[in-house]
Amino acid sequence: MRKTFLKKMHETLTAQKQQILEQLDEEFRVGKEGTIEEGMDTYDLASEERDREINLILSDRDRDKLQAIEDALERITSGDYGLCDMCEEEITPQRLEALPFTRLCVSCQSDIEKEAKLHRRTDDDRLRRRGSLVDLDDDGV
Ligand SMILES: [Zn+2]
Repeated sequence: MRKTFLKKMHETLTAQKQQILEQLDEEFRVGKEGTIEEGMDTYDLASEERDREINLILSDRDRDKLQAIEDALERITSGDYGLCDMCEEEITPQRLEALPFTRLCVSCQSDIEKEAKLHRRTDDDRLRRRGSLVDLDDDGV
């Protein structure tokens, strides 16, 4: 993995993280009006209490994303960034640019998706078999 590329991804990830935190800050401010001094840079207030508040405000999705971003930033530091979690091959830079905090290469990702689809199809089959005892209207047009 090239250093310049890693630097770029680090910037991208940091920007994404900042974006989430800014959104949070707004909610934080709305939720706790008057407790934060005007004009004070809330990023300087990185206290444990603030972290706790953030965890309360964060939706699961945001928390997952933030966690994924933090992980990716750590992996950039440790030198593991861009390696697939499953096959340990390098993930292509194009993919990393599109999904900076992905942990899987394209082929492993599609394997997982294929498997997920397979499970879904099994469910469908089960439903259809059950349905066939009653009606099969779905297959007509
Ligand atoms: Zn892989």
